[in-house]
Amino acid sequence: MPVSPDEYRLMDVQQGGRCFYCGEPVGAKATFDHLIPLAYGGLDAAPNVVLAHRRCNQRKADRLPTPEEIDRFVTERRRSRLGVWPPLLALRDAEPGDEWMTVARAIAGL
Ligand SMILES: [Zn+2]
Repeated sequence: MPVSPDEYRLMDVQQGGRCFYCGEPVGAKATFDHLIPLAYGGLDAAPNVVLAHRRCNQRKADRLPTPEEIDRFVTERRRSRLGVWPPLLALRDAEPGDEWMTVARAIAGL
């Protein structure tokens, strides 16, 4: 299992029991959403995962997170052992229009 039960509980506490995308309570129906989608080489582990409603997860689909979302994620993860996957930080600083290449380069450089 890519996210352990212990990591799941910690994630839930850090998100205040709320969906990462809509901010509404998510409870036991939370799904794992990959900030950088798996389809594009996103890491299948806690440093790239947030809790979200199934519908919010599906709505996000395969888009990349916005700089605002990454900032919020980094703030939530500050001093957390769950961590932040480095390609997310590279993406936050990407030039507009160059997001996908920036992610690909950051993943290749790990
Ligand atoms: Zn939601």
